Amino acid sequence: MSKFLNDKYLSLERYVPGEQPQDKKYIKLNTNESPFPPSPKVIEGLNKEEKEKLCLYCDPECKGLKKALADLYGVKAENVFLSNGSDDILNFAFMVWGKDGAIFPDITYGFYTVFCDLHGVKYTQYPLKDDFSINADDYIGKKEFAVIANPNAPTGMTMEMSDIEKIVASNPDRVVLIDEAYVDFGGESALPLTEKYDNILVCQTFSKSRSLAGARLGFAIGNKALIEDLDLIKYSTNPYNVNRLTQKAGEYAVEENEYYVNNCKKIVENREYTQRELERLGFRVLDSKANFIFVKSDKISGGDLYTALKDRGVLVRHFTRERIKDYNRVTIGSREQMEKFIGCVTDILKGE
Ligand code: PMP
Repeated sequence: MSKFLNDKYLSLERYVPGEQPQDKKYIKLNTNESPFPPSPKVIEGLNKEEKEKLCLYCDPECKGLKKALADLYGVKAENVFLSNGSDDILNFAFMVWGKDGAIFPDITYGFYTVFCDLHGVKYTQYPLKDDFSINADDYIGKKEFAVIANPNAPTGMTMEMSDIEKIVASNPDRVVLIDEAYVDFGGESALPLTEKYDNILVCQTFSKSRSLAGARLGFAIGNKALIEDLDLIKYSTNPYNVNRLTQKAGEYAVEENEYYVNNCKKIVENREYTQRELERLGFRVLDSKANFIFVKSDKISGGDLYTALKDRGVLVRHFTRERIKDYNRVTIGSREQMEKFIGCVTDILKGE
C-alpha cells in the first residue's frame, strides 16, 4: 500500500475470489459458473454491428433489459435495478441500508463482511444451527439490515418461504435482502413477497443459471423506493455500470429463457447423480438446492481432498474457517465433468 492510502482502509480485509486459472488445464468446479455456453442468440447477437457501437456510451437506464426482466417476472420496470454483477448491488445495499448495522449468518457468502467493513457497518453473525440450517428466529423483529442468501452459500441449503415472510413482516422499518444468486436450481423465490412488502429486496444474477458470469450482470427487484435508493448510489458512482454488450447479452438471454431453464434441469440431475455417488463413497452431502454441493468425508480432510483433486486437474473450493474446514464446495458441472470428478475422488480414497 502507498503512504497516501486513507487510514480508514488500512485494516480492510479484501474478499478473496476463487481461483481463476486462465488456461484450460482444469475441470473448474470452484466458482459456481455454468458449464454451458450462453444461448445461441447471445453468441450470435454480440456481432460486429454491436461491437461497432462500443464507441458510444450505453443506456444508463438499461431500458430494454429492464423491460425484458419486468415482463419475465411480472413486475413493473420501476421495480427492477440492474448492476455490474449482484456483488455491485450488495455493495450498494450495505451502503444505503446499513446505518443500524447488519445481520446475517456466520456461514454465508464471504463478501457480506467485506462490504460491512468497507462502509463502516457494524454486523452480527448468527451461527447456523448444528445441521447448518438458518435459525429464522434470530432475524425476527431486529432493527438491523438483514441479509439472507437463499439458497445459502456455501451450504446450498434453503429456508422456508414462510420463515422469510415472518422475518420481513416482523419489522417493517428495516430492509431484508434475499440474495437469490442460486435460486434457479430448485429453490423457491421470494419475488412474490416484493408485491406485498415494501421492505424486501430480492437480488439475483445472470452469472450462474444464465451462463454470463464473465459479462457481469446482476439485478434486484423490490419496491420502487428501494430501487431509487440503489439508483442514488449508481448515479453517484458509475451510471454506466452495465456495459453495452452486457445489456444486449442480458436481453437475448431473457428472450431465450427456455434454454436456461433446461440447463438448470440438467444441473439438478447432475447434482443428484453427484450426491448419490459421493454418498456411496461415504461422504456427507448437505441437502443443496444450488448449483453446488457442500461435502465432507471422514476418510480425508477437506484440505487434503482439495489438494489431491487439484493435483489431478480438478478445482473445487475449500474454505479454511474452523467450522467448515472439513468440507469442500463442489460446483455442479456437465455430466462428463462430474463423472471425471467422481473418478478422481474414488482414486484418491483408494490411495491411487
Ligand atoms: N451472492 C452469492 C451468494 C454468491 O455466491 C455470489 C457469487 N460469488 C454473488 C452473490 C455474486 O455474484 P455476481 O456478482 O457474479 O452476480
